[in-house]
Amino acid sequence: MRVETTIGVDIGGTSVRAGVVDRYGTVLDTARAPTPTGEAALEEAIATAVGTLAARHRVSAVGLAVAGFVATDRRSVMFAPHLAWRETPVADRISERLGLPVVLEHDANAAVFAEHRFGAARGAGVALLVAIGTGIGGGLLLDGKVFRGAYGVAPELGHLSLVPGGRPCPCGKNGCWERYCSGTALATTAVELLARHPGRSTVLDREVAGDKRAVTGRKVAAAAKDGDPLAQLAMGELATWLGEGLALAADIYDPEIVVIAGGVSESATLFLDDAREHYKKRITGAGYRPLARIRTAQLGDDAALVGAATLAADQR
Ligand SMILES: [Zn+2]
Repeated sequence: MRVETTIGVDIGGTSVRAGVVDRYGTVLDTARAPTPTGEAALEEAIATAVGTLAARHRVSAVGLAVAGFVATDRRSVMFAPHLAWRETPVADRISERLGLPVVLEHDANAAVFAEHRFGAARGAGVALLVAIGTGIGGGLLLDGKVFRGAYGVAPELGHLSLVPGGRPCPCGKNGCWERYCSGTALATTAVELLARHPGRSTVLDREVAGDKRAVTGRKVAAAAKDGDPLAQLAMGELATWLGEGLALAADIYDPEIVVIAGGVSESATLFLDDAREHYKKRITGAGYRPLARIRTAQLGDDAALVGAATLAADQR
């Protein structure tokens, strides 16, 4: 009998999360571990998580979703800023260890694939997923297929340079989109605003007690929700930059649906309407073209895992 379940593994900078997924995209069981720093330890952690689940379920293949550049043959990871792998044949190594077929995918690609098959982008011919967390991750579907670019790197949206000479970015450039539109950016903006408007904030001031290193995107979002005027101002700036970047992306890809995912999307009620308004004004030919629907992700944290598992199932 054909086995209908596969395992998807979301390999991020902080944790390795594996899940057994059925053909309807339902996660039946999960296992997780913190992401180790070394290459061997990382592969061991993945094998252990998958092994734990494979002992409890009959599975036919494994999909790995990686926060990094995946080679076009989808067998190796070329580069991953927060993981140990550098030009490493990850799929073959893990496959040999487990005795199961393994496919590899960039995490945002896996997420957009899952949202298209089971979630917010269902039925869309061209869908763009923008995952807003510590930075920005982008995934793109063209004619219903994951678009990976000629060398497996597309679409690297977070480092589009939106502000010439703007905030410095760890990537080496300045003014990257994610420096203005991410959880990290929310904290940076709030710190700048606190310095410019002393006494303007109440909730946020109290929360961080004057220590700007204690300001995090999550705290700013919580303060904005509580009505803190300065935190709301910071949220407004994020909304503007989100609309600005999406207008740019839409001029290139002309998507039918934009899915906003990632940790920051949990606060979407605080910024998404403003972002849509700004997007409407900034898109080329505003008022004379159909606009992409901009909505939040439906699969939440599981999107990359479900996408990787489903890609693995499709390849059997
Ligand atoms: Zn950058």
